[in-house]
Amino acid sequence: MGSEQRAGLMAWCEECDALVEDEDLGEEGECPTCGTILTDQERPPIPWYFKMMLVASVIYLGYRGYQGVTWIAGHV
Ligand SMILES: [Zn+2]
Repeated sequence: MGSEQRAGLMAWCEECDALVEDEDLGEEGECPTCGTILTDQERPPIPWYFKMMLVASVIYLGYRGYQGVTWIAGHV
């Protein structure tokens, strides 16, 4: 207890499945346990076409769902 929460100063090591505190990182920002570089973990922005694909599939699924509902409604 007593240690401050320092959001953003901890890195997640997927190899170790553990959080690594900033002060425990190596000089290159590597995990002290497995040596994986953990800095520069900012994810690249999601490309627009991926968003478009997501939106399109949501619309498509919604359309198919609507079709399904109307089909069921017409066959009950
Ligand atoms: Zn690690």
